Amino acid sequence: MAKYPLEPFRIKVIETIGHTDRNERKQVLKDAGYNIFNVPSEKVYVDLLTDSGTGAMSAWQWAGLQQGDESYANCKNWIHLESVVKDITGLKYIIPTHQGRVAENLLFSTIVEEGSLVLNNNHFDTTRANVLANKGVPLDLVVDEGKSPSLDHPFKGNMNIEKLEEAIKEYGRENIPIIMLTITNNSGGGQPVSMENIQNIRKIADKYDIPFFFDACRFAENAYFIKIREEKYKNSSIKEIVNEMFSYVDGCTMSAKKDGLVNIGGFLALNDRKLADKIKEKLILIEGFLTYGGLAGRDLEAMARGLQEALNEDYLEYRIGQTKYLGDLLDEAGIPVLKPIGGHGVFIDAKTFMEHIPQKFFPGQALVTAMYFEAGIRSVEIGSFMFATKDPKTGKIVYPPMDLVRLALPRRMYTKAHLEYVSDSIIEIHKNRQQYCGLRILDSEESSLRHFFARLELVK
Ligand SMILES: *Cc1c(COP(=O)(O)O)cnc(C)c1O
Repeated sequence: MAKYPLEPFRIKVIETIGHTDRNERKQVLKDAGYNIFNVPSEKVYVDLLTDSGTGAMSAWQWAGLQQGDESYANCKNWIHLESVVKDITGLKYIIPTHQGRVAENLLFSTIVEEGSLVLNNNHFDTTRANVLANKGVPLDLVVDEGKSPSLDHPFKGNMNIEKLEEAIKEYGRENIPIIMLTITNNSGGGQPVSMENIQNIRKIADKYDIPFFFDACRFAENAYFIKIREEKYKNSSIKEIVNEMFSYVDGCTMSAKKDGLVNIGGFLALNDRKLADKIKEKLILIEGFLTYGGLAGRDLEAMARGLQEALNEDYLEYRIGQTKYLGDLLDEAGIPVLKPIGGHGVFIDAKTFMEHIPQKFFPGQALVTAMYFEAGIRSVEIGSFMFATKDPKTGKIVYPPMDLVRLALPRRMYTKAHLEYVSDSIIEIHKNRQQYCGLRILDSEESSLRHFFARLELVK
């Protein structure tokens, strides 16, 4: 039986959410071109679109907002944030940004050239788009276990070390400016990476002298998985594990909208002085001065506090436990979910769920729109709609190995009753799944970010 974890908090402020009816939602979907990103949030009951920037801040963070020092240079909140990030990562140069993708933009526009290869376990969508925008080639090297939805393995986010070395030999060290590792692996189902894997990547990075960076958005959740799944670390504190993880990398990009527990914020951190200097010039052009990076002083303070709260073990136990609770409810009812349940969300194997819908008609998107229509729940497709691309040589469409629907859980936001409403609704849809049809794209088909804005129609 699924077990709900104890919340290490009580509720101090609430936000009212309203119900809509099916007729209203039918019209909303039509108006939105069946793209869930176009649905007004006020028409959503439980919003599991993303865990990015959607969580609840603590009383301590809100108090921090009142301590905002809005001086242009070197405000006290920056000095606080910088010391917190250095304490967590041990990295030397910290560059604030307003969110993760700007850190990616700054980094890749500086080190990626035409034809450069960026190696990753799985590139997240903005990471991939930032590599492509600089004419680089993103290569995904997650272990085979990570591509099989139902296979149980403790660290499905790991990178395939043999493939990593083969890729370096095949394409040449000089064409590979960086090895990235996404912790936890968002596109691969929020699956963690083991400390052992991180150590092995470090060895390869040393052998070939290639910089190694984390895409660190969910570093605290990853550390918690290491603690509970990697024997050697069961008695270590989260802080110790996090420190060791970061000791193996040369830098990281970070979206603090995840494990920074804030609604906006991010940073880039690195040890290479020359590279940091180049990036600092760009930062001033596109984000702002070196000590605020597109954020208000108060935002920097909330981030400094959130990053510390994310290391709290009671919080992480609740966080990972809540996600597992929703996943277990679905699993016990026979819904095909990606296993084991990841850190920030439950991923449904939509190809199996909507078996009667071929990949070209986006089974994942069919499930996403069904959940909204039936229950006012917003989720997101991570599959063919997001990733299928035309092979430039053959003109054939290449489909991703998995068609997933992600139910991302905002941090410290929804209650047990909300999660049970979600699982009950999905179980009902599953019973009647034959009645739902696929979709086809009406416009913006060629864009690598089409899932954010393309319009679709039902294939009846
Ligand atoms: C969210 C995310 C990003 C991008 O961060 P933003 O703050 O949304 O710009 C990059 N990588 C991963 C793994 C993410 O989850």
